[in-house]
Amino acid sequence: MLVLVAGGAGFIGSHLCERLLTDGHAVVCLDDFSTGSRLNVVHLEGVPGFELLERDVTGSVELLGVDRIFNLACPAAPARYQADPVRTWKTSVLGTMHLLDLAAVNGARFVQASTSEVYGDPQVHPQREDYWGHVNPIGPRACYDEGKRAAETLCFDTARTKGLDVRVARIFNTYGPRMARDDGRVVANFVAQALEGGALTLYGAGSQTRSFCYVSDLVEGLVRLMDYEGALPGPVNLGNPAEFTVRELAELVLELTGSSSPIEVQPLPVDDPVRRCPDITRARTLLGWEPSVPLVQGLGRTIAAVRALR
Ligand code: NAD
Ligand code: UDP
Repeated sequence: MLVLVAGGAGFIGSHLCERLLTDGHAVVCLDDFSTGSRLNVVHLEGVPGFELLERDVTGSVELLGVDRIFNLACPAAPARYQADPVRTWKTSVLGTMHLLDLAAVNGARFVQASTSEVYGDPQVHPQREDYWGHVNPIGPRACYDEGKRAAETLCFDTARTKGLDVRVARIFNTYGPRMARDDGRVVANFVAQALEGGALTLYGAGSQTRSFCYVSDLVEGLVRLMDYEGALPGPVNLGNPAEFTVRELAELVLELTGSSSPIEVQPLPVDDPVRRCPDITRARTLLGWEPSVPLVQGLGRTIAAVRALR
């Protein structure tokens, strides 16, 4: 099949392109390289069936012969999506609209990369897909949270009105090799800081929790969601339900790197969610999917990959 991966030169997208090529598909990787990089896919250039297309999804996208579309095009790190919030919203909403239009023209199946941020600062734990969330619509995270929520609305409305086959993955914190060193996300920051001997920047008391999914597990979930034959009851959470405090993560990174970096407490960002953990019953039941890489192992691989680049 011909598969379009929008945002394919990003962290998750580049791993997804690799996986799809391994599975024997032809892949068009579309990206504007705003938060991703050509370097993430440079090893795929020249691989038969791989094509790189520089495009911005805030404008319309034209391409024929596409069988399947994954929409991952959107900045995902808080510092990056807050740097130009209006552009983030446009990318999420207009970008999804343009790619849904492309799916309609081609009769292509569509997977949308949504996010656990649609649950905001959740009041229900763990988060199930039928929870409507608790989002501040006017705070600094809203461009991303509300942008992704509006994109979900577009997905389900388009499926209902045009009969398109649209699936929505609500992705929880994902980490692994090729996370951008400078995008400010916690795993990238802690690993780099520990290896460079700088202080680990812990925001707030570090008692807030996240559930970290290794990238190969996430990619497997996305592929299964795309391949699933049949109707889904709605969005599907994809994430690792093992929940850690951010302080526990910092301590684990120090242990695995053997670093003696100090932990330096810094202010907690506005609207930083207090707890986050996916209920993955739906993915387990329908897709037969669950993560297989525990945090200690995935962090070990991530640290090794960062070390190899230094
Ligand atoms: P990333 O920033 O590495 O990848 C996003 C890619 O989209 C980049 O290559 C970027 O250049 C591209 N892009 C951004 N705006 C674009 C535009 N207007 N036109 C074309 N391309 C554009 O982030 P990631 O972590 O790989 O996330 C990929 C997707 O998964 C995003 O949609 C994100 O919202 C979602 N997601 C990621 C996580 C996570 O923990 N990594 C969690 C939840 C959801
Ligand atoms: N965080 C931290 N230090 C950092 C970067 C992030 O303590 O250097 C915290 C952040 O406040 C949040 C968690 O780690 O509570 C995850 O942050 P990230 O930006 O990776 O993703 P989020 O889940 O907030 O989108």
